[in-house]
Amino acid sequence: MADTMIRGMAANKQVRFFACNSTDTVEKARITHHTSPVVTNALGRLLTGGVLMGAMCKNDTDKLTLRIQCQGPISGMLVTADANGHVKGYVSEPEVMLPANDVAKAVDLGVLSVIKDIGLKEPYVGDTHLVSGEIAEDLTYYFATSEQIPSAVGLGVLVDKDQSVKQAGGFIIQLMPFTPDEVVDRLEKKITEIDSVTQMLDRGLTPEQILEEILGDFGLEITDTTETRFHCDCSKERVSRALSTLSKKDLDSIIADGESIEVKCQFCNKAYEFTVDELKEMR
Ligand code: ZN
Repeated sequence: MADTMIRGMAANKQVRFFACNSTDTVEKARITHHTSPVVTNALGRLLTGGVLMGAMCKNDTDKLTLRIQCQGPISGMLVTADANGHVKGYVSEPEVMLPANDVAKAVDLGVLSVIKDIGLKEPYVGDTHLVSGEIAEDLTYYFATSEQIPSAVGLGVLVDKDQSVKQAGGFIIQLMPFTPDEVVDRLEKKITEIDSVTQMLDRGLTPEQILEEILGDFGLEITDTTETRFHCDCSKERVSRALSTLSKKDLDSIIADGESIEVKCQFCNKAYEFTVDELKEMR
């Protein structure tokens, strides 16, 4: 079954929500990058957050990037998503050895950058410091401080005994402006009572059922369902752009070696070969 993302409104359109399962998406990332369990968990949470926030993009061509630069052994992660359910990502150190649930320790202190490319000359960048390294709390903090949108974010990845991804998914619930205090209070109370996403995924709940547990009493209306997947749109041309940022000196030294080189896409590890003649054209 393919991963899906659902979105909709609740409480007379005073609350909006996004929820997804991302099991196949995170498993594809794990296989692509050979991640250890704790890295599968960390990158999986960021990928899931990317899927959900990508869905907030207004136009098909918009891109949403989540970048974490941190002091923990993972060192850094980057995820890019769009409104069509496509997401891709990579991590600086894929083989960190810590217990699978020790995401906060693997990430530690750092900065979360939310980069929105909506086709303008410069993308919009919002930086916030990480509050816990658990990813969901860090995104909640980003929404509160950078966008002034009160949000509840839940992200979860369950790694199986054989290190494959057993379940992954998450939700983002946001209050629209002018939500009455009564609704806010009821929702806040509800959020403190529910199981974690990981627990709900472990119980086998679908995104619909997870939302039903949280927002069932608020009149839940699903408006949209999208298929989501790990998808890389790289091409030789795109990878060559990265090569052309090399200094002339570096490029000359590669050319002097007289052999074609292989350059891998960071997101999907696909290898592209560049001949000496092609490299010469880039100078
Ligand atoms: Zn690629």
